Amino acid sequence: MTGLFDSWQRQINYLRISVCDHCNLNCVYCSESSRINLPRSEILSNEEIQRLVQVAASMGINKVRLTGGEPLLKSDLSKLVRALSQVEGIDDISLTTNGILLSKYATELKEAGLKRVNVSLDTLKEDRFKRITGGDKLGDVFAGIEAAHLAGLEPVKINMVVLRGINDDETIDFARLSIDQGWHVRFIEFMPFGTAEAQAFETVPTQEMYQRLQSLGSLEPDSGQTGNGPAKYYRLPGANGTIGFISAMTEHFCHTCNRLRLTADGQLRPCLLDDDEVNLKAALRNGADTDELKRLILQAVIIKREQHHLNEGVTPGRRPMYQIGG
Ligand code: SF4
Repeated sequence: MTGLFDSWQRQINYLRISVCDHCNLNCVYCSESSRINLPRSEILSNEEIQRLVQVAASMGINKVRLTGGEPLLKSDLSKLVRALSQVEGIDDISLTTNGILLSKYATELKEAGLKRVNVSLDTLKEDRFKRITGGDKLGDVFAGIEAAHLAGLEPVKINMVVLRGINDDETIDFARLSIDQGWHVRFIEFMPFGTAEAQAFETVPTQEMYQRLQSLGSLEPDSGQTGNGPAKYYRLPGANGTIGFISAMTEHFCHTCNRLRLTADGQLRPCLLDDDEVNLKAALRNGADTDELKRLILQAVIIKREQHHLNEGVTPGRRPMYQIGG
C-alpha cells in the first residue's frame, strides 16, 4: 500500500499546520485570560515549514490546512502559501481563520495558491461576540466572509462552536443562513480542552441540534460538500448552502481520522486530543537529513492513538488549543 498508514490502517494524508500562536481574539473556550505566547525564536520559519511539508508530501501527505492562533496575523503568510503550493504532491491548501483580517488578504492568498477557507464564527450578535471572543469586530468578520467569496476561496465554510446557554439559541439563525445566504454552516460540538476556565462549558449533542433544526424543514443528507473532514452534511429545503455537524463528543470519527498536526513550535502531534508529540524542530535545527525527518514523521504516525477518551474524562493538558490550531 503506498501512502502513510497508521497502526489502525487509517491513511494519513492531511497535515494541519499552526503557523503562529498569536491571536487577535481571546475566545472563552480556547484561550485563557493570562495567555503566554511562545518566544518568536521557537516558532518555525517559512523555510522550516516548507522543508517539513516537502518531506511529509513525499510520504503521502497531500492536503495542508493553515491554522494558528490566528494565521492572518503572520505577516508573510502569502509567501508561505505560495511556497507550499509549489511542493510536489500537495494538491489542496486551506485556511482556518477568525475572519477579522480576511477582507485584507483574501485576494492575495487566492493568488498565492490558497484554495478555500473556514471562518470561525460563534454568534451573529455584536454584544455576544464581545462576550465570547473579547473582540468587537463582528462587522469585519462578515466583510471577510464576503471578500473570501469574491476572491473565489470556495467553499467558504462557517465553523460555529455551540455552547449550551451561551450561543446555542442561535443555531436556527445560523442554519437559516444556509437558505438565505447559501452559507455552509458547520455546528461543532464543544470539546472540553485545556484549562479549567476553557473547559467550563457544556456540549450540545448533535442529535439535539439536529432535532431543533427540523423546525426549518427536513434535513436531507448531502454528500456534495468537499473537504477532508469529519463533518456530516445536510441541506434544508430550498437551500444553496449546507448544514454540517462535527460530533467529536457524541459520534466521534476517530476511526476515519486522516490527520497529523504540526504545532507552531515544530512539534508533530498525532492526535489533537492526546499529548503525545514528536519534536521535529530540534531535529531540523540540528541538521537532520531527509531520512531522519521521515523516521520522525513515521514515529508520530505509529504512536497515533486509536481514538480520544474525552468522554472518560481524559483531557490533554500539555498545551492550550491556540498553540495547536484545533
Ligand atoms: S481525536 Fe485524535 S484520533 Fe480522534 S479524530 Fe481527533 S485527531 Fe483523530
